[in-house]
Amino acid sequence: MKLTKEQDEKFKKLGISSFIELSLIIPNSYEDYRINNFLVEHKSQVIDATVESVYRAPNSIQITFYAHNLGHSIQGVLFRPRPYMMHQFKVGERDYFYGLCDCKMGKCTMTMPKKISQVGEITPKYKSTLRSDVLQRFIQKNLTLEKLASEGLKEYIATEILKLHFPASIPSKELETPTIDALKYTELFSYMKQLSVKRRYFSALSSSARDYKKWAGTLPFELTQKQIEAIEDIKKDISKDVAAKRMIVGDVGSGKTMVILAAAYMNMPNKSILMSPTTILANQLYEEAKKYLPYAKITLVTNKSKKLDLSEYDLIIGTHALLYRELPKASLVMVDEQHRFGTQQRNMLEKLVSSGDKKPHYLQFSATPIPRTQAMIETAHIDVSLITSTPFKKDITSKVIHKQDFKDLLGHIKSEISKGNQVLLVYPLVEQSEVLEYQSIDEARGYWEKNFDGVYVTHGKDKEKEQVLLDFAKDGNILIATTVVEVGISLPKLSTVVIVGAERLGLSTLHQLRGRVSRTGLKGYCYLYTNASASERLNEFCHTVSGFDIANMDLKYRKSGDLLKGVNQSGSQFKWIDLAEDESIVSVVKKDLKS
Ligand code: ADP
Ligand code: MG
Repeated sequence: MKLTKEQDEKFKKLGISSFIELSLIIPNSYEDYRINNFLVEHKSQVIDATVESVYRAPNSIQITFYAHNLGHSIQGVLFRPRPYMMHQFKVGERDYFYGLCDCKMGKCTMTMPKKISQVGEITPKYKSTLRSDVLQRFIQKNLTLEKLASEGLKEYIATEILKLHFPASIPSKELETPTIDALKYTELFSYMKQLSVKRRYFSALSSSARDYKKWAGTLPFELTQKQIEAIEDIKKDISKDVAAKRMIVGDVGSGKTMVILAAAYMNMPNKSILMSPTTILANQLYEEAKKYLPYAKITLVTNKSKKLDLSEYDLIIGTHALLYRELPKASLVMVDEQHRFGTQQRNMLEKLVSSGDKKPHYLQFSATPIPRTQAMIETAHIDVSLITSTPFKKDITSKVIHKQDFKDLLGHIKSEISKGNQVLLVYPLVEQSEVLEYQSIDEARGYWEKNFDGVYVTHGKDKEKEQVLLDFAKDGNILIATTVVEVGISLPKLSTVVIVGAERLGLSTLHQLRGRVSRTGLKGYCYLYTNASASERLNEFCHTVSGFDIANMDLKYRKSGDLLKGVNQSGSQFKWIDLAEDESIVSVVKKDLKS
């Protein structure tokens, strides 16, 4: 639909791009401009009046009106009047005035009267980047059922929302459920529609997929049902001549590497590229790839590797060093732990191997569990596969502990180390200690280094981070780190994680940290050390294992504000939709957008 010049201008000022978005700017109050011939006490109302006199006192203005509709005089009072208010009252002129009316002992007053031009209707008041009356007139003229319907909004929903802008009676202060549901629906519809419009489809560089079943038969274990489902999704994707765009989300340890390798296998003889956020991880992926894809030609690209001709390989694995190499055309591009890269880096890789208007199939892997509703919403612009199970049940005991439990904790740590297992201690950020009631890494390390052997320390800004992790993996007993060290590196002997100041962290972060232990079936322990007394949130966390359930819990507690402000608290992008509760609305919108 083409916009008129005025519509275009107003939309820009409001920062919107559709009539549906316009409908979502709802009134925050209403004024009743209907005119009566009786006065209702203590109610804002309209009079049809002639100004008989205006008297200025130091801090107020007194106006005597004769109200024709009431048949008597009424005294107007403006407190602390601003200069522009004065011009409304000219002795001898007859106009409509609106204000709060009261009568005491036969004497009637109107507080803060203002002249109005429109009378006879209930007038919505808006708070936006446009003046309320300007927006109101614009909405009156432009917001119609036809326009909303032409943008795809269902008629019964549009009707419900229009009632807010064109009320037949004064709506109650609390919105009613059908109205709220309509707002939720509309908000989501608008959001998802924009996402899906933004999604662009490109031709693929290749469109074939080998069957993976024979390869799966060579593995030392059976793929899990969820791994198979994700692989099947990818198989369909890469068989198409439209470039795929898919996000595969699965908990730490859900076996995403096998899905990556299956994808590379299915894509052969076409080339695949896999980018990973750290050298350690890239190495680990490379080792696994060589082990499970023995017939493929695989190479590893890091800052340290020589600049070889990469054109002869089936699978090129690397860190972001890939972005600075001459890359052959690869028809499948994958990014592991995608949240560790910036959007720019991810796009760069995809672009590097695109050719003309053809693009590679593009798969992103993420271990950050998202709520189901969020995943459903994402599908508007990217396909999503969820791996919701892990190959073997992780046996991790999670427990909230306090200062008085420290002695027991020491005992546990000693006993784990004596069994050859390793322990991770997570402390708050190095530089934040001044405001915190917990020790920082620098304050705490001395104690551990004095009392234990094999203590390694690292943090987010540590340039030697990777080397420290490798050394620890080989020889260490205790690793002291910040939450930043949450990469998907495999530490098979890690049995225990202690998180200091756990109540400060989001549940998803705690879950990521807990996911470091018991990677290969070792009995694991997760201790949440806190000075706070009781926390329902942490207790519930201890009893929940699935990252997807944790993501939903996170939503719930975030809403109740149980998390300290500023810590990991990314607010929702929605005003009405509640990701924790509105799954049914999300699925209806999703269906409606498809049809
Ligand atoms: P993620 O990348 O999702 O965190 P990984 O791919 O590193 O998880 O897998 C974790 C561990 O599980 C690895 O040691 C891997 O070899 C093993 N694994 C993967 N799939 C299976 C399976 N179907 N059955 C048994 N073990 C598996
Ligand atoms: Mg992984």
